[in-house]
Amino acid sequence: MLDVAAAREIVLKHAKRLPRDFTALMSSSLGQVIAADVASDVDSPPFDKSLMDGYAVRAADVTPNVELTVIEEIPAGKLPTKAVGRGEAARLFTGAPIPDGADAVVMREKTDSSSLTTVVVREVPTVGQFVLPRATEMKAGDVVIPAGTVMTPAAFGLLASVGRTTVAAYPFPRVSIIATGDELVEPLKKPKPGQIRNSNGPMLVAQTTRAGGLPRYIGIATDRAEVLRSFVNEGLITSHVVVLAGGVSAGDFDLVPKVLAGLGVTAHFHHVRMKPGKPLLFGTKGDTLVFGLPGNPVSSFVGFELFVKPALRVLGGHVDRGPGVQRLALSEPFRANNNRPTYHPARRTADGRACGLPWFGSPDLRALLEADSFLVLPPGEVNYAAGDAVDVLPFATTE
Ligand code: AMP
Ligand code: MG
Repeated sequence: MLDVAAAREIVLKHAKRLPRDFTALMSSSLGQVIAADVASDVDSPPFDKSLMDGYAVRAADVTPNVELTVIEEIPAGKLPTKAVGRGEAARLFTGAPIPDGADAVVMREKTDSSSLTTVVVREVPTVGQFVLPRATEMKAGDVVIPAGTVMTPAAFGLLASVGRTTVAAYPFPRVSIIATGDELVEPLKKPKPGQIRNSNGPMLVAQTTRAGGLPRYIGIATDRAEVLRSFVNEGLITSHVVVLAGGVSAGDFDLVPKVLAGLGVTAHFHHVRMKPGKPLLFGTKGDTLVFGLPGNPVSSFVGFELFVKPALRVLGGHVDRGPGVQRLALSEPFRANNNRPTYHPARRTADGRACGLPWFGSPDLRALLEADSFLVLPPGEVNYAAGDAVDVLPFATTE
């Protein structure tokens, strides 16, 4: 049976970056990856700029308590009309251009002014004090946002400052999500005897969004091949990725493998040496990726984090940086005994350690509520003391 690393490699081999497209400065683009270098069309600041409210002066003219003639007032947004000559100063405000002749700014708090036309300067400034020289931040033509940058709030601000309201970017991958099982009812319904609510559907929609995909929830396919076939077919036609939950094991009602094969999906693997979530199927049809996750909620969750998420990242133009396992000390003792490598819900503490959470296995979604990571446990008996280093896989990361 494949181990997690080998299975991940197979998934990534089939995950191809989507063709680039354009996106705009709007909140729905947050998290997209920019696909081409963006250059500035302006110098910033566009002029030597004052960093303080105060007086623009010629540093060489200022001796302690010198009185200077105030020649004009320059608010932000206005241009100076006069050069500052010997014995002169211009009153100005933060963000205003420094007039010709001046080479320093004295902050207002270091001056006394009893009239509009004169000022007494109490501080001897150094040349360049409180002056941000033109083009300190960027010169026209500088590449300010390299291709590969994520559309973060800072990137929005920078794009705006260089006049770019649209930009080449990789689209978010579209992901169809299908729950399977005769026992499932949608959350608004009260389950009848023998039924349970579909928790995986909403959970996978949310995981998809968090991983940078555009979820498209198709619904609950009953355990009938024709129904499942039409749901999967819809997913294959409309999406870059199809994610199914349940119906992927070896039982009589586990129709997913057969239905996928019948629709021309090539299966690349069907089991992974891990717990929970062993019967996990990955296949492709053309460039479309198909994941059959086991139905138990924590199995679905883990399968998504380990295999679907990295695929979505690559499709969306991100660089894969590996699984992101960290080596952390345990904050409390921890013991377990599993027959396969196990992903055990855990929480990282404020001081950078990790703690395994009480968890009774793959149907136990409640344990995940507090979790932000998994302990990655080797098979067999483990008996760790507080302070022992363990592998931890964080999943609650944002960019
Ligand atoms: P399966 O993989 O279809 O055999 O399902 C394994 C277990 O997970 C069964 O107990 C199912 O009832 C449960 N299960 C399957 N799909 C879901 C779902 N969408 N939401 C909650 N539980 C599910
Ligand atoms: Mg089922």
